Amino acid sequence: MYHAKPIVILMGPPGSGKGTQAKHLAVLYKWKHLSTGDLLRALLQAKDSDPEELKEAQTSTAEGHLSADWLIFRLAFRAIKEALETHGGVVLDGAIRNASQAAEFEKFFRVEHLWEQVRALYLEVNEEELIRRISSRRVCESCAAIYPERVNSDICLVCGGKIVQRADDAPEVVRARFKTQGRSVQQPIIDFFAEKNILRIIEADALEDVVFRRIQEALE
Ligand SMILES: [Zn+2]
Repeated sequence: MYHAKPIVILMGPPGSGKGTQAKHLAVLYKWKHLSTGDLLRALLQAKDSDPEELKEAQTSTAEGHLSADWLIFRLAFRAIKEALETHGGVVLDGAIRNASQAAEFEKFFRVEHLWEQVRALYLEVNEEELIRRISSRRVCESCAAIYPERVNSDICLVCGGKIVQRADDAPEVVRARFKTQGRSVQQPIIDFFAEKNILRIIEADALEDVVFRRIQEALE
């Protein structure tokens, strides 16, 4: 694929399958899958965490806001360097939240002579269609069976339990999620990588394995 170990920045709105595709890449190519959520959780659980880092992670988690940029950078940059020692590459999932963070990542990659290895991929989906799909999903309260489309009965076909809409899937909640994580907020990051000529847009309204093949082709 590359001579040097690839660093893939994977982007996409909620429901685009970004996390799943990142896992596939990690498994197939023996890359390290890095998500800031996982890095923060690991920091919170480790016995020997840096006190300053721990304090910021605890505060932001308790108050329900995003962690400070300096913490994200520190965790991500350290993890990327470690992963490149032990793995065949890195896939970054949801690490970059705005264009100024993207510029910091670029700076880091350039200082470490890694920039040539970086590729950015955006998984594009029809957001209106995705919002419709997520908000029409129903689940069984008892056995967690998923009903992709609205069903005529509210009795689970598997166990006879009650079929309900998860609070997370309510239309207004889904819309709010797209407002903060959808294409409109990611556009400046997409533009940033496009200007650097390292961005590929992947048409992701397709079956999981079809999308994965497109990702593989884009990385060749
Ligand atoms: Zn059930």
